[in-house]
Amino acid sequence: MSIDPSQIGKPKPRPRRHKRSLTGYLPEVNKDGKEVWPKGEEKTWKAGLKSVSTEVPQITENIVHHVQTSLARQAYNLDNFGAYNATALAVRDDLIVNWNDTQMTYTRKAPKRAYYLSLEFLMGRSLDNALLNLGVRPQYEEGATKLGFNLEDLIDTERDAGLGNGGLGRLAACYLDSSATMELPIWGYGLRYKYGIFQQLIAPDGSQFEAPDPWLAPGFNPWEIPRPDVSYDVRFYGHADRTNKGRAVWSGGQEVIAAAYDVPIPGYATRTTNCIRLWDSRPKRGFDLQSFNAGDYERAVEASNTAEQITSVLYPNDNHSVGKELRLKQQYFWTAASLSDILRRFRNLDKPWSELPENVAIQLNDTHPTLSIVELQRILVDEEEVPWDTAWDIVTRTFFYTNHTVLPEALEKWPVPLMSNLLPRHMQIIFDLNASFLQAVEKKFPGDVGKLQRVSLIEEGYPQNVRMANLACIGSRKVNGVAELHSDLVRKTIMKDMVDIFGVSKFGNVTNGITPRRWLDQCNPGLSTLITDALGIPKTKWLKDLTLLKGIEKFTKDKKFKTQWAAVKRANKERLAHYVENTLGVQLDPNHMFDFQCKRIHEYKRQSLNILGVIHRYLTLKNATPEERKKAVPRVVIFAGKAAPGYYMAKLTIRLIVTVSKVLNNDPDTKDYLKLLFLPDYSVSLAELIIPASDISQHISTAGTEASGTSNMKFCLNGGLLLGTVDGANIEIAEEIGEDQVFFFGHLAPTVEGVRYEHTYHPVAVEERSPALAHVLNEISGGRFGDSGPFEPLLNTIRQGDHYLISDDFDSYIEANKTVDEEFADREGWLTKSITTVARMGKFSSDRAIMTYAEEYWNIEPVKVDERT
Ligand SMILES: *Cc1c(COP(=O)(O)O)cnc(C)c1O
Repeated sequence: MSIDPSQIGKPKPRPRRHKRSLTGYLPEVNKDGKEVWPKGEEKTWKAGLKSVSTEVPQITENIVHHVQTSLARQAYNLDNFGAYNATALAVRDDLIVNWNDTQMTYTRKAPKRAYYLSLEFLMGRSLDNALLNLGVRPQYEEGATKLGFNLEDLIDTERDAGLGNGGLGRLAACYLDSSATMELPIWGYGLRYKYGIFQQLIAPDGSQFEAPDPWLAPGFNPWEIPRPDVSYDVRFYGHADRTNKGRAVWSGGQEVIAAAYDVPIPGYATRTTNCIRLWDSRPKRGFDLQSFNAGDYERAVEASNTAEQITSVLYPNDNHSVGKELRLKQQYFWTAASLSDILRRFRNLDKPWSELPENVAIQLNDTHPTLSIVELQRILVDEEEVPWDTAWDIVTRTFFYTNHTVLPEALEKWPVPLMSNLLPRHMQIIFDLNASFLQAVEKKFPGDVGKLQRVSLIEEGYPQNVRMANLACIGSRKVNGVAELHSDLVRKTIMKDMVDIFGVSKFGNVTNGITPRRWLDQCNPGLSTLITDALGIPKTKWLKDLTLLKGIEKFTKDKKFKTQWAAVKRANKERLAHYVENTLGVQLDPNHMFDFQCKRIHEYKRQSLNILGVIHRYLTLKNATPEERKKAVPRVVIFAGKAAPGYYMAKLTIRLIVTVSKVLNNDPDTKDYLKLLFLPDYSVSLAELIIPASDISQHISTAGTEASGTSNMKFCLNGGLLLGTVDGANIEIAEEIGEDQVFFFGHLAPTVEGVRYEHTYHPVAVEERSPALAHVLNEISGGRFGDSGPFEPLLNTIRQGDHYLISDDFDSYIEANKTVDEEFADREGWLTKSITTVARMGKFSSDRAIMTYAEEYWNIEPVKVDERT
C-alpha cells in the first residue's frame, strides 16, 4: 500500500502546559541552538550538579540526611527497615540524576524509540541490583558497616515487586535491564497493581492458600517516582456513532484517570537509566456529586471504587486466559494511557503522522496489549482524521507482536458482547478491519472457506469471540516466537494460514535471554568473582559480553580452579540449606545432589512426572537391601512454584508432593538417600537463592508445549546441569553447550500429536505402556501415602487420556535419572560438565536478545547519554 502524503495531516495541536525554566540556573538556548549560560554561572552550576556518589563519607552523609529529613527519624533510634529506606533513598537520588540526563538526551537527540508493552514486570528487589549496576556496592557495604548496619540485612529487608506471574513477566524485567545496559532508548509500560502476585501459603496437608500481597503497604516505595503531572483520561462504555468516511464519535460512558509512576531502570556500567512507566487508576471525580446530593452515599462511593479497582490486582494466571470483564478493562486502560503518552511525545516532534513508524516501535508482549492496535487506528481515524487505509498502513508499520504460547487454553479470546459493551467503537473497528482483511484473503485464496474461517478476527459461535492473536498478527509488522522450536510451531500451527497470506518473512524468532547481572553477578557473587579472576578481565567486560565466558573453558583441566568452583557450589548449597532449615526445619546434607524443579505449577510443565519419578525412586530404595542402598547416590528433590488459585490439578500436584514428602523424609530406611521438599512462595528473590545451589534442574515439559523457558538458562548459567525434554530453549542450550552436557529424554515434538491420537482412539492401559508407572500409581491408590481419595482425579488424568504423555515418557525419564546418578557419582566429570556448561552459555544473555529486537525488528540504535563536562 502506498501513502499519499498530502492526505496525512500533522497531529492536531493540543493545549500544552505552560512551562518555564528556573531562572538563573539554566542556560538560554540562542537562535543558533547554542547554550548561553548566565554570566559566570556555568562553572558553578555544573560543579554543583549532583552526580552518583562514589565516596564512602558522601554516601553515609546522604543516608543520614535521609534518615533525618525524608524519614524524619532520629539517628540514634533506627531499625533495619529505617536504615534500608534511607539507603534506598540515597541510591534513588543517584538513579534520578542518571534518569534525568538519559531522558534529556532522548529528548534532545530524538532518536527512534521503542516501547515494550507488558502487563507484567516481575522485578524482584531493586536495592542490590541498583548498587551493582551503579558500581557502588562495595562503598555502600562499607558505609552501612560504618553506620552500624549490615548491607546484606538491609537488602533482605526489601519486599519483592511481584508484578508478574512467571517467565513472561520476568522476561520483561530482564529486557528492560538489557535495554539500559545496551544504551537503547526503550521504555516499558505496565500497570501499577496494588496487589502483586499472591503470597503462597502451604497448609500441613499440602493445600495451597493465597494471601494478598500488599507490596506497597509500607506506605512508601523508594523505587518509583510519582508523576502527578502525567495523567490521561480513559473512557469505557458509552456509545459510538458512525459519521462519515469510516469515522465515528465515541462518547458517554465512564471516564477514569490513569496516573503515571516511573520506575528507573539503571543500566550496568553506563549512565543510561531507562524507565518503566506504570499506570495507576483513579476516579475522575472522587464522588459522584449528584448521587451524593441525593443522599445515596453508597452509590456515590461506588464509582470511585470501580475506577480504583482497575489496577487493584494482578490476575494470577500463567499460560491461561480468563475472560473476565475487569481483565479486559485493565488491558484497555493500560494500552489507552500508554498510547496517549507515546503519541504526546511524538506530537512534540512536530512531524506528520506518516513518520510515526520511523520514530516509534511498539512491542506487544503477548496478546495482552493488542487493543493498542485498534486504539491507534481509532485515534488516527476518528480524532486526527487520517484516512482509514493510510491510518492502517501507519499502524501496521508501528507494532510488533511476540507470541508466548501455542497452548489453546492460553490464547486470548474476548466475547463480542462483552467488548461491544465496554469498548463499542473498538468493536466497530475490529469488524471493519475484519471485513477488509477477509476480502483480501478471499481475493488471494478464492473459495477457501476454511482459511477464511480460521484467520477471521471473529470466531463464530454463541457468543462470537474476538481472536486476539489473529488481530495482533494482522496489525503488526512482524510476529516472533521465543525459541527456534516454538517459532517453528507458530509458523506451522496457529499462524499457518497467516504465513500463507503474509509470507513467511513476517514470522521470525528471537530466542529469550536472561540478564547475567541479576542471574549471575547478583545471585552468585562467589562464582562471579571466580570467573572474573580466571578471565583476568574486569567483570564489567564479560557481564556486557557474555560470550567472553568461553574463556573459562580451558580451566576444566586446572585442578585449583576446579577445587574453587566446587567450593563456590558447596557454599551456595550451604546457604540454601540454612534457609531450608530456618523455614521448613529440615536439615540437608550439602554433599547430596540438589535437584530442583522451580517454576509455575502447570500440567504441561509436568511436576507430576517428577513427583511420580520420586515415588519410583523411593519404592526402589525401599525394596533394596541396606548394602544396595549404601551404593545409592543420595538426592534432595526440591519443588517450588505457585499454582493459579483456580487451577485444581495444579493445586492437587502440590498436595501430592507435600503428602509424599511427609512419608519419605521420615522413613528411616530411605531418608538418608532421598529427601523431598516443597519450598513455599517461589519468587524472584527465592529463585536467586535456589538457582546457585543446584546440581541439576528439571525442565521436563511435554515436547512442544514450553515456548522457551528461561529458568533453564538461569540454572545452567550457575553451573547446574539440565535434565529435560527436547523442548523450547532446552534444544538451543544443548546446541550451544553440547548434547553430551545435558540429560535429554522423552518423545519429540513431532510425535506428540500422534501419541495423543492413539490415547484417544486406541487406548492402552498404563500397565502396558509403563509397568513401572502403573506400579507407582497403584501404590498411591493402595494407600501407601495415606488416603488416596483426594489424588484420584490427578491419577485418572494419566490413566485416561494422558494428554501430557506422562506414561509415554515415564520409562525414559527414569532411565535419564539413572544416568544422572551415575554421572554425579563421578565428581570430577560432573565438575568438568558444570564449568563447560557455564562457559558455553553466552548466547543466552538478554543483551543478545534485546539487540536482535533492536536491529532486526525495531530499527533503533544505542544512544550515548550526553556528558556534562
Ligand atoms: C525465571 C523465572 C520463572 C520462569 O521459569 P520457567 O522455568 O522458565 O517457567 C518463573 N518464576 C520466577 C520467579 C523466575 O525467576
